[in-house]
Amino acid sequence: MAPLPRTRLYLDSALAAGAPVPLDGPRAHYLRSVLRLEPGARVLAFNGRDGEWLAEVARLAKSGGELVALEPVRPQDDGAADGPWLLFVPLKGGRSEWVVEKATELGVGVLQPVFTRRGDVGRVNLERMAANAVEAAEQCERLSVPAVREPVDLARMLDSWDPERPLLLAAESGRAAPLVTAVTAQKGKVPALLVGPEGGFDPGELDALLRLPFVLPVGLGPRILRADTAALALLSVWQAVAGDWTRAGGDARPPFRT
Ligand code: SAM
Repeated sequence: MAPLPRTRLYLDSALAAGAPVPLDGPRAHYLRSVLRLEPGARVLAFNGRDGEWLAEVARLAKSGGELVALEPVRPQDDGAADGPWLLFVPLKGGRSEWVVEKATELGVGVLQPVFTRRGDVGRVNLERMAANAVEAAEQCERLSVPAVREPVDLARMLDSWDPERPLLLAAESGRAAPLVTAVTAQKGKVPALLVGPEGGFDPGELDALLRLPFVLPVGLGPRILRADTAALALLSVWQAVAGDWTRAGGDARPPFRT
């Protein structure tokens, strides 16, 4: 049994036995000039729909290339695509990208940038965030890439919220339940997790949030965490109490092809 290749690529094309899989210029460049692969080399490919496939490099040129899908090595049973949503206020200094990378590793389903009254950043580079999510999914052996959504205003997002999806709000409010208590009470539901901006929510925003029946304020202990720390703490605790960390076994997949 040959070990599986280490290189994993997320590609949008369909994956089926013998199917040609086109590579764009940057992907072909990465395989050819960075990894120094040649035709005949093997890689793993996934597209978020057809599972993970062993594929062979058929052609690599400056302008693009092609793989051929050989055989499936993992079915598409990745729970992460249905993982919790993270609603976060864009942060300064590359910290949003850091949140995207780490949240992808932690099995987030949707990344939703949210603008609040006290946000630090007026614009987001969605393309860069999406690229960070792809890179992190390739590296951590996910079979899906989380959706990176267009930023929305907090009030507008709440107006059209599906009340069936609980919204756990990280809040240093006296009414906040301990996080584990709230997650345990909500077991079976996949929530959205909302973290405020570095300057905190505006009091009017916080009041409006706390009046909504689907919003559950949760506390993250007695210390004030930075927004990125709070986001990753929320996701980690949710995975440990109600998500895929509760499953037995640590291996993402067997190390050898069967
Ligand atoms: N509210 C503070 C202020 O106005 O200075 C600080 C905001 S904190 C840096 C950023 C966000 O992280 C908060 O809005 C909240 O969502 C979350 N957060 C940080 N520490 C928390 C804690 N101990 N419990 C619950 N949420 C927390």
